Amino acid sequence: MVPAVARFGELVERYDGFLFDAYGVLVDASGPTAGAAAAIAAVRAAGKPLAVVTNDASRLPATAAARFARVGLPIAADEVVSSGQMLAPHVAAAGLAGARALVLGTADAQAYAAGAGLEVTALADDAAIDAVVICDDAGFDFLAGMNAALTASVRALDAGRPLALIVANPDLVFPRGPGALGFTAGTMAAMIDAVLRRRFAAPPTFVALGKPAPAIFTAARARVGDPPRLLMVGDQLETDIAGARAVGIDAALVAGVSVWRDGVVAAALAPHWLLDAL
Ligand SMILES: [Mg+2]
Repeated sequence: MVPAVARFGELVERYDGFLFDAYGVLVDASGPTAGAAAAIAAVRAAGKPLAVVTNDASRLPATAAARFARVGLPIAADEVVSSGQMLAPHVAAAGLAGARALVLGTADAQAYAAGAGLEVTALADDAAIDAVVICDDAGFDFLAGMNAALTASVRALDAGRPLALIVANPDLVFPRGPGALGFTAGTMAAMIDAVLRRRFAAPPTFVALGKPAPAIFTAARARVGDPPRLLMVGDQLETDIAGARAVGIDAALVAGVSVWRDGVVAAALAPHWLLDAL
């Protein structure tokens, strides 16, 4: 499949519902992207449903909606589908209700974990834990929190206890500002994983909940009422585009983090549409 160059306005007519990635599509470090407000307005004017599908597990939907409102993007809390919201179905499916969990992230991240049925413990080396949940790089003393998560994990495994490892946001880096990157949750999981693999013969591995895993896309599709022709608009081939395509959702790539190159990028990552901007 060779993607077609398009303008977002044409796609508003062609599709019945829209899923937008947040960072790099609707917002960046400095505020809303150039076409974001107009794109949202066009979808609203056409009377079609939309949702934001984000790997950000550091904000509850109401917090995210308030932040969008502050930059002029009218998005309701119930239009936000976050990786943090995938904790509840995972905890239920994995039988982890009541598990003692060390949660790395903001207060909202801890609220996601508690709301999912986990018992959130303090960040301490001697925390007796059944699970580590990595949501975000912010909201705690980074090195002390990472050290506590590592130490408590090793102690649990040394004691022969089962340990569930969950990373809500599998992204490795985020745009910290113009031309500047920051480590985030996926890299934190990789750090702990590297140490456990060296120390234990068969350590537990992290379960990743956000994009590109299918659950967040199927949840988003349901949130917008499962329209027949649904489009995901994202800026990363490996998460937004591949994840949408894997569950049969059409995808448009906004030029930015990922760049499409004919014949170079794997076919499974091919978007249906290429947009210069929203
Ligand atoms: Mg993005």
